[in-house]
Amino acid sequence: MNNPLSAPVTSGAQDIDLSQYRSDGTGEECMNLISVAQSSTTFLRHLTHIFNTRGYAMTAFGHYVNFVNYPPKGYTEYWRHRRLVLPDDPQYLTIGNLYVYGYPSKKPFKSVARFGQHLVSIVLGDLDNCKCILCDGTGPAPKDAEYPADPSVPVLR
Ligand SMILES: [Zn+2]
Repeated sequence: MNNPLSAPVTSGAQDIDLSQYRSDGTGEECMNLISVAQSSTTFLRHLTHIFNTRGYAMTAFGHYVNFVNYPPKGYTEYWRHRRLVLPDDPQYLTIGNLYVYGYPSKKPFKSVARFGQHLVSIVLGDLDNCKCILCDGTGPAPKDAEYPADPSVPVLR
């Protein structure tokens, strides 16, 4: 570990391809009118931010990270609207939350931060002892950062 903790997040971050890790993701898709799949680029950007700001990067890798190429196999990020709004409604891209689908029980992670805890266990190859909200569920759920939806993603019809 040669990156001091005081270094800016962007300096010394290591490029990592999460699709190289053995994942328990099922590839489940969320098909409903209020959920929109986000691009891999957007998902990786959110995961990179969560890992570098929540300590997950240090726990899993021992240094800051920059996730590249593909997300963990079988997991997809969705923007889920809090209510049904039409794409031409100005609130369309502002009222909602990000969910992550692909967990074996079919329950979604209701935030990127919640999935981040599970992803640490995927990276460490320690899913049997995972303490995330869906595997264990006894700890407090991490508070999620607010992200805008990716406006370049087409709406599911
Ligand atoms: Zn877990």
